[in-house]
Amino acid sequence: MTYTTSRVPNAPALDVSNAVEVLKEVLGPRSPVALHVPMFSGNEWTYVKECIDTGWVSSVGTFVDRFEKMLIEFTGAKYAIATVNGTAALHVCLLLAGVKPDDEVLLPALTFVATTNAVNYCHAVPHFVDSEESTLGLDPEKLSEYLADISVMRAGECFNKRTGRRIRAVVPMHTFGHPVDMDGLVPVCERFRLVMVEDAAESLGSYYRGQHTGNLGLVSSLSFNGNKTVTTGGGGAILTNDPTLGPLAKHLTTTARIPHKWSFKHDRVGYNYRMPNINAALGCAQLEQLPRFLSLKRALTSRYVEAFKPVLGVGVFQERADCRSNYWLNALVLDRDDIEARDRLLEMSNEKGIGTRPVWTLSHRLPMYSDCPAMDLGVAESLERRIINIPSSAELGTRYV
Ligand SMILES: *Cc1c(COP(=O)(O)O)cnc(C)c1O
Repeated sequence: MTYTTSRVPNAPALDVSNAVEVLKEVLGPRSPVALHVPMFSGNEWTYVKECIDTGWVSSVGTFVDRFEKMLIEFTGAKYAIATVNGTAALHVCLLLAGVKPDDEVLLPALTFVATTNAVNYCHAVPHFVDSEESTLGLDPEKLSEYLADISVMRAGECFNKRTGRRIRAVVPMHTFGHPVDMDGLVPVCERFRLVMVEDAAESLGSYYRGQHTGNLGLVSSLSFNGNKTVTTGGGGAILTNDPTLGPLAKHLTTTARIPHKWSFKHDRVGYNYRMPNINAALGCAQLEQLPRFLSLKRALTSRYVEAFKPVLGVGVFQERADCRSNYWLNALVLDRDDIEARDRLLEMSNEKGIGTRPVWTLSHRLPMYSDCPAMDLGVAESLERRIINIPSSAELGTRYV
């Protein structure tokens, strides 16, 4: 079941202290409880030690190859290229998608700033799209209507009538691990000839109708930051099924060096974005435990759902019936568009040692992106005032399996 109630006219007011009590009951006596911390319960120490013992800690080593193979196996993508972080992966994804300076790139306003920054790194212009209540991701129907209004097709390419700039790509982001409505988005991409680049940073282990996220766009990016479902310390990856772009992604992220035994020749401006071996070692140990992490996170979410059932005025966001979420971050969604209740809940829970936080400030309200083009963002703006992320570490699920 999906949590979809939105701006209900007569929604009940939230009893904030009761909500905090419910959180405490689910999380148990330990305090403080962080929003999300990694769990190192496998071969992490052994693999990292192996890097140090053998001296292979940097940009070459067997763990990087192994990590990429494991990602391919898990996600079903044909190519996986490990990078220094998720932002760098997304930067290269956008370059691979043919995003050029002064192009516009469509993306949700409701996302972590990295998505927007990566567009900026290409000297392209972020163009903000509204989100849906049912997925917390970009709204394909609203996007389609908007593009029909503001764009014109010229020689098979989409142009913004208002700015004159080419609109090259769209970046759906799977918020907290919940897949975007891809069946809705794919036809919009076809109609307006947009290249789809998935920001799958939050959705390792999430499936859209049986297919792992990151496989529906031309290219996609993952993140293995310390707060993500699995971590490499810092890290990311590019996924693609395209036989040209896979090897090109590797080339671009390894300084565009032409492979040779001893000569150092580079055939274009490349990037030093390769994941170091010591990080990949940590990653291999983490990926071995991913199925367990996913079931622990799922158990925790079920418990939250049960516990919040009797609490009026708020719901725990749940996956769509035909999708599977990794439940990276659990989210409470207030029925009422009531920022005071949200802030009181944030205040009171953090005071009690429970690590909660609001969703990111919408990108179009950040000073560096406030002049960027945007459609009506009414739903994203309402969601911003109603979402609270609550503790979601895999370890917290051990009480419930
Ligand atoms: C985590 C994240 C990224 C990438 O972050 P890095 O810290 O660079 O790995 C990108 N987009 C979203 C939506 C994220 O949550």
